[in-house]
Amino acid sequence: MSAVTKLANSTFYCLIVAVLGLFHSGCSKDGSSDTEQFVSSAEAVRPDAQILMQTFYWDVKPEGTWWDTISSKLDSWKSSGVTALWLPVVSKGQSGIHSMGYDPYDYFDFGQYDQHGSIETRFGSFAELKSLIVRAKARNFKLIADIVLNHNSGGDLEYSPYSKKSYWTRFSPRSGKFFRSFEDFHPNALHANDEGVFAEFPDLCHHTENVKDWLYNRPDGIGKYYRDSLQFDGWRFDYVKGFSPSVVKSWNAAVGGISIGEYWDGDVNLVNNWCKAANSAAFDFPLMYAMKAAFDGLNLAELQSKGLIAANPAQAYTFVANHDVDEISVASKPLAYAYIMVAEGTPCIFYKDFEAGLDKVKLNQLIWVKKNLAAGSTKTLLSSQYEYILRRNGTPGVIAYFNINNSDVSRRVQSNWANTLLKDYTGANADVSTDASGMATITCKGKSYAVYAPKELN
Ligand code: ZN
Ligand code: ZN
Repeated sequence: MSAVTKLANSTFYCLIVAVLGLFHSGCSKDGSSDTEQFVSSAEAVRPDAQILMQTFYWDVKPEGTWWDTISSKLDSWKSSGVTALWLPVVSKGQSGIHSMGYDPYDYFDFGQYDQHGSIETRFGSFAELKSLIVRAKARNFKLIADIVLNHNSGGDLEYSPYSKKSYWTRFSPRSGKFFRSFEDFHPNALHANDEGVFAEFPDLCHHTENVKDWLYNRPDGIGKYYRDSLQFDGWRFDYVKGFSPSVVKSWNAAVGGISIGEYWDGDVNLVNNWCKAANSAAFDFPLMYAMKAAFDGLNLAELQSKGLIAANPAQAYTFVANHDVDEISVASKPLAYAYIMVAEGTPCIFYKDFEAGLDKVKLNQLIWVKKNLAAGSTKTLLSSQYEYILRRNGTPGVIAYFNINNSDVSRRVQSNWANTLLKDYTGANADVSTDASGMATITCKGKSYAVYAPKELN
């Protein structure tokens, strides 16, 4: 039974719910209810939202100035309510200053060693990175490092007795740390292969003593060095489909911190199973695809019960676009951002959308909603092709209304607030009052969203 009804059907609706005994409060002929018997679904849980910013996009100019660009945005992002920053890969890749970092060569060259054609990385020098970290920490941002573990790139050619051929598996980084040989790549003495390879890159074996040491066991290994010396608070693990979830689980056990996997798949069961096996959160690819189907595919019912936010919200990092996948249309992105800012899960904002694509005032408004209103469990009040309404049951909670009709729409919905004046925090619609049973008639403009909550917040 939906907790929503069209205005014209309200009397009929009251009769139906009364007959079914869904409400303790009866509905009289004029629609009023018994104040004493209203039972709110409100929960005590308050908003506690972290807001993640992905601080880069795929083709950031290879000029070695990006750390300074990020630095220049910190005050603005802080005032917007961003709490954590996902930085691009900090270490030197095979293509030096041209590398986006996903071809890792030397995990300890942060732009201070002359190798692979440059001293600086694409994003700048080690000094500029350190300066960014100091400035970000002074503003209490949590820092998430992008960790690429599936594969390596840029090694020298050497013969492997396992594959009986030569391959680029000899790594002698200038940092002097984490030398690797064919024994550390598949096939080797331990494994013919693991869960996946990426292109033709040498596929790291995460189970040799050398690799385990340098990934997460040694105090001066990648995990603990990034944590203790670079002051990272967490990890975005790249391409986790390419290796066992036990690797991330072991890293998290040894190093700790925020953990987010890039398990790029629309199948929520696969993503959720990975989260459980890796003891890690993950980006909510299933939700991103559901939002694309809903907003671009013009069927909002595609949102209902979709995404990792429905299966495992505490470990869901929601997003609309990232450096790899930017498929939701510009026209639909405001609705998609509104959805992740009222829904469960931890939202990640894509740099390009925030700085160069969308209306920043409206995004800031949505961040405020996430941090101040959107708490507690989720109840879908209406799921249909052109309209979708959800209610968050925490304190204060929120009712969000999505409409992809061209024209304005109104619905009578069940709130958790009796006799309360509600405000649409987007500013698009007039205040409305709930009655003694918590019912209110809310409105949403054509091709838009509205976000209702008590006007007076405690
Ligand atoms: Zn292996
Ligand atoms: Zn692999």
